[in-house]
Amino acid sequence: MTLQVESVDLRDLLRGCLDVARALAAQRELTLALVLDGDLGRIRTDKRLLRHAVLNLLSNAIKFTPDGGKIQLAARRKGPWTQIAVRDTGMGIDKGEAQRIFSAFYQVDASSRRQKGGLGLGLAIASRFVELLGGGIRLHSRVGVGSTFTLHVPVDTDPSKADEPFAVSSTVPAEFGGDLDPMPPGPGPSSD
Ligand code: ADP
Repeated sequence: MTLQVESVDLRDLLRGCLDVARALAAQRELTLALVLDGDLGRIRTDKRLLRHAVLNLLSNAIKFTPDGGKIQLAARRKGPWTQIAVRDTGMGIDKGEAQRIFSAFYQVDASSRRQKGGLGLGLAIASRFVELLGGGIRLHSRVGVGSTFTLHVPVDTDPSKADEPFAVSSTVPAEFGGDLDPMPPGPGPSSD
């Protein structure tokens, strides 16, 4: 896949993602919030891939959070990284499933969750896109409390990744070390 790296206004991109999420959640009783750090600025990235990944996390949050729940999209700059977190107060994901959900076609408890639609491909594609941008996705979740998916992308993506062939990754994305702080507390669950 050829990366189209350009200067992107992150605020605009995330506001656009939240607008789409609001439309998706229109018939639902969910509270959606956007929390953007003051110094987000512009980053050099492929906005198509980033937008796709953020929208996938938001649409999952909407799908797996019952009415009355809260979803927060938050972003901040951390040195050479941008952290984008999608938090929900939904059903949560068991620790044993947390790595597998990034595999293609994997769905937790497929029989009941399949009623919510989807093929189990969204996270595999989102994590592959974020990897192509030079970043990764990390998950913190507690069953019955909620989930936080934190996506990290470099402020300046290296376009030399452009020639990597695209295939849906069935591997778990590499976890980041402990050098990136968790997101500041929001309405959703705190990470564990
Ligand atoms: P799909 O949503 O099409 O099933 P995904 O790859 O996006 O596929 O997600 C894989 C599985 O991970 C989902 O079927 C669901 O079991 C679980 N999952 C993803 N996001 C969440 C979330 N925010 N809360 C609870 N479970 C989730």
